[in-house]
Order: sequence, then C-alpha cells, then structure tokens
Amino acid sequence: MKWNEDAEKELEKIPFFVRKMAKKAIEEMAKKEGKDVVDMEIYRKAKEKYLGITEKKEDTINIAVVRCNIVSETCPGVGCLKAFNDKRVHFERYKGKKIELIGFFTCGGCSGRRVHRLIETLKNYDLHVVHLASCMLFEGDYPKCPFKELIKKDIENQGIEVVEGTHH
Ligand code: SF4
Repeated sequence: MKWNEDAEKELEKIPFFVRKMAKKAIEEMAKKEGKDVVDMEIYRKAKEKYLGITEKKEDTINIAVVRCNIVSETCPGVGCLKAFNDKRVHFERYKGKKIELIGFFTCGGCSGRRVHRLIETLKNYDLHVVHLASCMLFEGDYPKCPFKELIKKDIENQGIEVVEGTHH
C-alpha cells in the first residue's frame, strides 16, 4: 500500500521495534475504509484507536516523571502522583494550566541507563517537561542520586525542560 509523504514521516517517528507491526495495523485500517493510500486522516485514526492518542492539544503541557529505580522497590509512587493530580509542591507552577502525565518511569538503575531512550520515545508524543522525582534529590533512607546532574543534562540536551522535584 502507498503512503503519502506526511503519513510516512509520522511512521518514521514510531520506535523501530514496533514500526513494522504498527505499519501493518494502519494499512489494514486503511483497507477496511476502502483506501489505497495511507494519509494523515487514517494515520490519526489509527493512533487514536491503538494508542488512545487524540489530536495534539496545543494548550496542554505534557509531563513525564523519572524516578529512582532503587527507591521504586519500596515506593509505589503515590506521593508523586498525588502531587501531580493536586498541582502541589513542584507541580504548583501549573496552576490554571492544563497538564497531562504522559510518562512515569524509573531510570532503569544506575546510572540511569534507560532515561535517554524513553525520553526519545516520549518526544514523539509532544513531551514538554520532565520532573525528576523527589526520591532522586534528597538524602534520607536512600542516598541522593549521584547521577542526577548527568541525567538532567542528557534530558536537557534532548531539548526538554527539566524540573527538579515532585512532592518534596
Ligand atoms: S541512577 Fe540515581 S535515580 Fe537511578 S537508580 Fe541510581 S541512584 Fe536511583
């Protein structure tokens, strides 16, 4: 099946390991709709159907939280999520604005090995800001993350704003 230029560009943004599968599913959807070319209309419909992602919301700030892999063994993330939902502490800056949490993941272990890859993926979903969870920042039951600056710089180098902290 043929793809128009815009739809093809969007396809390229899908992570390579699922791209083939996604392409097949989108083409099947196009066939069902009686089309012989995949255009942006079909592409958007497929995105909505398979990923639950609707049209880009220009006024929404898309946020992801990166948390410590070690701390996640004992912390389900309630503090971060509640602060996000209530726009408190480090999420207070979004009061009066529309926000969406589009990613909540651990760093993958020292030295934050999977952060770069996951930020790359989230950029396809219009990621705007990454919060480094409070567990990465304070000395307490766990030591402060020794790789925090490295992780922060890497995210910023990908063009994404970083905010230090979530609920503390
Ligand atoms: S890199 Fe930092 S945030 Fe990640 S597991 Fe190690 S100490 Fe925790």
